[in-house]
Amino acid sequence: MALRSQPDAHRAVAFCRTVITPEAQQAAVRVLRDGWVTMGRESLAFEAELASWLGAAHAVAVSSCTAAIQMSLMALGLPAGSPVLTPTLTFCGAVEAIVHAGLLPVLVDADEQTLGVSPEGIARAARGGAAAMVVQHMAGYPLDTGQLAAAAGISTERVVEDAAHGLGAAIGGAAIGSASRAACFSFYATKNLPIGEGGAVTSTDPDLVARLQRLRLHGMSSDAWRRYDVAEGWRYGVHELGLKANFTDLQAAIGRAQLRELSAWQARRAEIAARYDTALARIPGIELPPRPLRAVHAWHLYVIRIHPELGVSRDETIRYLASAGIATSVHFIPVHHHAVFRRLLGPEACSNLKTADLVFPGLVSLPLYPSLSDHEVDRVCQALEDLGAQRPHTTSTGSTRGTARP
Ligand SMILES: *Cc1c(COP(=O)(O)O)cnc(C)c1O
Repeated sequence: MALRSQPDAHRAVAFCRTVITPEAQQAAVRVLRDGWVTMGRESLAFEAELASWLGAAHAVAVSSCTAAIQMSLMALGLPAGSPVLTPTLTFCGAVEAIVHAGLLPVLVDADEQTLGVSPEGIARAARGGAAAMVVQHMAGYPLDTGQLAAAAGISTERVVEDAAHGLGAAIGGAAIGSASRAACFSFYATKNLPIGEGGAVTSTDPDLVARLQRLRLHGMSSDAWRRYDVAEGWRYGVHELGLKANFTDLQAAIGRAQLRELSAWQARRAEIAARYDTALARIPGIELPPRPLRAVHAWHLYVIRIHPELGVSRDETIRYLASAGIATSVHFIPVHHHAVFRRLLGPEACSNLKTADLVFPGLVSLPLYPSLSDHEVDRVCQALEDLGAQRPHTTSTGSTRGTARP
């Protein structure tokens, strides 16, 4: 049976709207007119400004977060096939990056509360050995990488952070990416700092920085692209096999202008999350995302969990919201549900990921982006309330709400 919402007179609420500010558009045109459109001075300025926004020592801008993860892992110099822990409740690209770095992904079950990983889950997965680990700050909820590295029995030098959701998050008073050996960010169209495409690694380690600067451009000596010296600009060395994963000045120009809005955008994201919290708390069967104690959430996503008390399934919820003109998404289909990873890793490595299997069927990501209006947030909440009211359901204990480890 398909539930239908009341016909809706309003405009559709998109899951995401990418805003490229007028200043960013003008900056892009300036770079196009200038003619140096690939990586150059503008990219250096973006790296410096991103590092400064985060309080990081260095930033290396690259083509994507996926490439950033792959190169950060390659730079560890691990033997081929070394086991690398990764959440199973993550984006497939982050696990593909491990494989493309010549390493073996070892899937870690989800933590039921944070939807990230827990020290217990990490310790269990590390029993078979772990050489390194990818930590993902799911939805923007920051995880303590030191605690997770200890649970895995590895040094924090062997942690690569997938901070695609973590830009703007902080833990222990430090921004995610400000104190890490390798934190990887994404500037994909939907992310907190949208450029369209792009990524970056922030690092405290100058050696890793030099290595990433080579790896992103064919392994060529790091300043090969700075061909300012007319007589010597042609000379370069190739020291190792790299990727074609450099940034461009066009992206940098957009990114520099967008970065100036980021603090305000983060504040708006937090405001929207608080508005959802207030309105949705009274709907039985909807579990709100947890809030970290003594830490700053980046609010990249607002992920709710649908429980039986709502009276309708997650899939029905998504269809109902769609019929009300509200687009949603699901983050993520667990990696071990995808055919390619089942084939690659085998049935054993894809079993016993019970919490991910348990939570996945209830996950829904609601619209959350700075240009979402209060009115639109209220429409989403009203639709969820109407949906809950349409179905007969037993009285429930009310929505549970996470409080969390720091
Ligand atoms: C978006 C995303 C990525 C990939 O970012 P790209 O810049 O598109 O490569 C990696 N991990 C997570 C968790 C993501 O959400």
